[in-house]
Amino acid sequence: MPAVIVVHGGAWAIPNNLAQDSVNGVKAAAREGMSVLKRGGNAVDAVEGAVRTLENNCVFNAGHGAALNTRGEVELDAIIMDGRTLASGAVSCVKNIANPVMEKARAVMEKTVHVMLTGQGANMFAESIGMNTVPTEMLVTQNERKEWEKHKNYVTGVMEDFNSQWAHDTVGAVAVDSAGNVACATSTGGIRNKMVGRVGDSPIIGCGGYADNSSGAVSCTGHGESILKVTLARLILSHIEQGKSVAEASRVSLKYMGDRVQGAGGAISVSPSGQWAATFTTERMAWAAVHNYTLWYGLDPDENLKEPFTY
Ligand code: ASP
Repeated sequence: MPAVIVVHGGAWAIPNNLAQDSVNGVKAAAREGMSVLKRGGNAVDAVEGAVRTLENNCVFNAGHGAALNTRGEVELDAIIMDGRTLASGAVSCVKNIANPVMEKARAVMEKTVHVMLTGQGANMFAESIGMNTVPTEMLVTQNERKEWEKHKNYVTGVMEDFNSQWAHDTVGAVAVDSAGNVACATSTGGIRNKMVGRVGDSPIIGCGGYADNSSGAVSCTGHGESILKVTLARLILSHIEQGKSVAEASRVSLKYMGDRVQGAGGAISVSPSGQWAATFTTERMAWAAVHNYTLWYGLDPDENLKEPFTY
């Protein structure tokens, strides 16, 4: 069965000055994810590799370059999930861990008996297994500090921030490997001007991501409080379980979130048989996918560009 990787760089009103870099960033991450699969990696390795590439790219708000909270600090959230066993690892409110955050989420999944570690505990665990810590300030880019300074006196709440261009973006990946195993990964700095200690959807199982070999894998982005209320990743998979196509399940679930809680967002989804979709209700979402020697990508609604993919 041909493997598939799909990645996103966050659903929001991406301004034109970030558009090209965002598209280039997701294309590079999808290429990296597929290279991992071609080198014999499984779906979990592929989503970790793709998200690591995105986290290390300052255009995206995950790890280095993340959005700042009301105190001007970075607090990072991430999840990874393996559809074979439903094993999952997540971290939230992580402060001074060097990129990639995804590596810490995977370590929680593989080296602890827990599913999520938060705040100080997540940092202590990372240090105990020899992961690099960095001064929090090192994760802050000049651009984000400037934007934060500009907007800090106008705190309006995450919904208003999300619907304006103040918000940044989240990154994520889903994959199915040639054995039909699925996985998802999502990583974020959250939303600018969030309260200290706010945890969004991204690290919450069933909300920011979910992976189950019996239905598929999903990674979400968008207004976190809305995604949490409708448990978006599981909602999409439950529609797939009831017979909808991956694209239709994603569309119907995002529409439900809009109608029910007036939240906008996006999702990438893949089924164990290799169906995939990139869907959003925000103005834009940078996404890319590799399937059958073709690299697909887009940014604006209904944009579906492609080019040949060679190794
Ligand atoms: N869902 C993320 C959060 O609310 C933000 C995003 O996807 O842009 O933390």
